[in-house]
Amino acid sequence: MALLNYRDLLAEQPIQEKDLAGDAEIIDDGPTGAIAVEYRRCGDESCHCMTGDEKHGPYNYRAKWEDGAVKKEYLAKTE
Ligand SMILES: [Zn+2]
Repeated sequence: MALLNYRDLLAEQPIQEKDLAGDAEIIDDGPTGAIAVEYRRCGDESCHCMTGDEKHGPYNYRAKWEDGAVKKEYLAKTE
């Protein structure tokens, strides 16, 4: 745990939208990571999201750097 915190202190740059999925939008940013919102297609061919542009979501998650990769931690769905 201490090692992880140490890495966090060395944290590279803040998360940017280009580091996330194409349509993710960062809505908050802070020392513990960026809060992003994303809409997604589920992959089910029969689902409306695959044919139209109305996707599922929003999915909120916290994104931060961990070992050089973006780690996502999904948050409770807001409705
Ligand atoms: Zn779907």
